[in-house]
Amino acid sequence: MEIIVVPSAGFCFGVKRAVNMALDAAKKSNLQEKLNTLGPIIHNPQVVKSLEEKGVYPIENIDNGCHNALLIRSHGVKAEIMEKIASNKRLKVIDATCPFVKKAQNYISKAALNGYFVIMVGDENHPEVQSVISFADKNKFLVINSIDDLKRVPISEKLALVSQTTQDVNFYKRIIEDVHKIAKSDVTVFDTICDATMIKQEESKILASNVDVMIVVGGYNSANTNKLKNICMEIQKKTYHIETEDEVNPEWFVNVNRVGITAGASTPDWIIERVLKRVQDMDTSG
Ligand code: SF4
Repeated sequence: MEIIVVPSAGFCFGVKRAVNMALDAAKKSNLQEKLNTLGPIIHNPQVVKSLEEKGVYPIENIDNGCHNALLIRSHGVKAEIMEKIASNKRLKVIDATCPFVKKAQNYISKAALNGYFVIMVGDENHPEVQSVISFADKNKFLVINSIDDLKRVPISEKLALVSQTTQDVNFYKRIIEDVHKIAKSDVTVFDTICDATMIKQEESKILASNVDVMIVVGGYNSANTNKLKNICMEIQKKTYHIETEDEVNPEWFVNVNRVGITAGASTPDWIIERVLKRVQDMDTSG
């Protein structure tokens, strides 16, 4: 049985950077056991647990149990929270907001200043979307996640379109086309899907169409992993989403020649390697 792992599987640049910044800060003795992240640093429970063992603990809000150092995770935080954090002079802030998320925040700030109504394509409950859209004018934004949601677009306004960095490229293209068709004023489009996402989606699509079984590794609460699973599932019905190697099922590989493995941006290499090893161990093809 041939087992192929997509080259881009696992941590993206932004996540790698945030985790390394957390590890560096935790190593410094004066921060030991006192470094908090606002929300889990990434959507992967195994990584969060391993960071807790090194003294990095997530908290839900800054008013509740924050110690003397706070790391802003790659998703960023809402503008008003950032202001509150900045005003607390005793708090050491380590800003690990991904530069691509920062770019989207800056685009929206400028669009809002120029009077645009901002439409963000993404999941309104996702922390990245909440952080990015908070830079829009409070009365002039909309988060949409389906073609049906286009009914809510105020078509007479000047519109600025931005997407969640992990959005499906083709879905965003479709929304852009449809907005251009219905808009009665200026439409500005910001390209905010990050390369890491596009490359991973493309490589995963190609692999899914060339294997008999596809395995997607990543947290169940990870938006980009779920998106990857849906993309692969459309091509290969035998796509399985797992968090750890313990979920790999030998029944998936009966009469199978090729297995593909991909992983979300918040999945560390060590989990991918364990999954690969488990699949290799289940190979009975000789
Ligand atoms: S997926 Fe892209 S935007 Fe999001 S953290 Fe990773 S590199 Fe940054």
